[in-house]
Amino acid sequence: MALKALDILKLLPRKTGCKECGCPTCLAFAMKLAQKQARIDECPYVSDESKATLEGASAPPMTLVTIGGGENKLGIGNETVMFRHEETFHHPLGIAVRVPDDLDAEALAARVAAIGELKFVRVGMDIRADVVAVDNVSCNADRFKAAVQVASKLDLPMVLIADRAAHVAAALEVCADKRPLIHAARPDNWEEFARLAKEERCPLAVKAPDLEALAELTGKIKAAGVEDMVLDATADGLSATLQTLTKIRRLALRKGARDLGYPCMAFAAGDDAFEEVSQAATYAAKYAGIVVTSLTGAEQILPILTVRTNVYTDPRKPIQVDPTLHEVGTPNPQSPVLITTNFSLTYYSVEGEVEASRVPAYIGVIDTEGLSVMTAFAADKFTAEGVAAFLKSDALKDKVSHKKVVIPGYVAAMSGAVEDESGWEVIVGPREASGIPKFLKTMWS
Ligand code: SF4
Repeated sequence: MALKALDILKLLPRKTGCKECGCPTCLAFAMKLAQKQARIDECPYVSDESKATLEGASAPPMTLVTIGGGENKLGIGNETVMFRHEETFHHPLGIAVRVPDDLDAEALAARVAAIGELKFVRVGMDIRADVVAVDNVSCNADRFKAAVQVASKLDLPMVLIADRAAHVAAALEVCADKRPLIHAARPDNWEEFARLAKEERCPLAVKAPDLEALAELTGKIKAAGVEDMVLDATADGLSATLQTLTKIRRLALRKGARDLGYPCMAFAAGDDAFEEVSQAATYAAKYAGIVVTSLTGAEQILPILTVRTNVYTDPRKPIQVDPTLHEVGTPNPQSPVLITTNFSLTYYSVEGEVEASRVPAYIGVIDTEGLSVMTAFAADKFTAEGVAAFLKSDALKDKVSHKKVVIPGYVAAMSGAVEDESGWEVIVGPREASGIPKFLKTMWS
């Protein structure tokens, strides 16, 4: 936890008056340090012991752990707040899909291929299952190594799950360069796992029966030279796991528990796919850095990815699309021109419904600073002048042979002003995007 100025003052040599730090007093220097406006080495008299204390206190409360390398590496942790409304969450969790190593060669290849296909586009963003977790359920080192070799072709960050360090060592022969997360050091085997993680410079998952034992274990592993750890918070069912994830986060961020200041992971499970999706989505929301699931169906993974996207989107920065003319299908000079705002959810709702109508069209996107239709209209950011300026701009030049524009039903009140400002005929469209297919098929034609 960050120290206050008076706490810092106790660590200073207090030769007030020497002013070599550039401050008139030690207290003034302590206040600058507390506000992170000065560096401790600006005072030449601070002891090494005090320096270590101050540097430790200014370290982030949760370590940033990197899994994998290259373009697809995953950074988790380093979060500073409990709730997204306090600031924002910085490092989106990894969604890991489990690959048991007891599958036959054909099934193994099919599963790995299926994981590679778990990619989607949502509100203009590419999202995917981005971690592969190979599980040594066979308890056979050769099978584990072979499965890891197949899975490593996905070029995604990996988790190696095994009870025996020797089996992990065998698998690392084919993937150590990918810096996989090794799962997991436990109170009865941690020395072997810690040695392996240190030698191979890999992050290490840590698991213990309760939080006290977990904190004790991370302390020992850190003393053994492993800095990058991930805490396995999986407990008996959804409620217990959620409580464990929440307690670890609170202890690390609010109580300054250094031994629990690491990102967490959790394994989703359930009697059926619905329960497993519920667990995975819950852990994604609070507070896992990695969620491991056995599910591979697109309809099962997409909801989990959607929760991740929503939770890790900064609410202060609405997702926006380019305020320009967008084409849906292959529009021609007689195609309709619809107007909407540049809030992504609004735009993609409109675009999806235009696509569904199978009527090729132009969508003119007005810059409303990422606000939806009604909000932008109320805030005076979606105005008749703005729409008219767009219609008169080069964006539509030579695109259409008519001068008819469709505006959202919710802003019908601006239709007269748009006509006056632009000279275009305004057609009031449906209020909801869902009404667009019927509107285009009937009203437009
Ligand atoms: S240099 Fe150090 S001892 Fe001197 S005034 Fe600044 S904080 Fe105090």
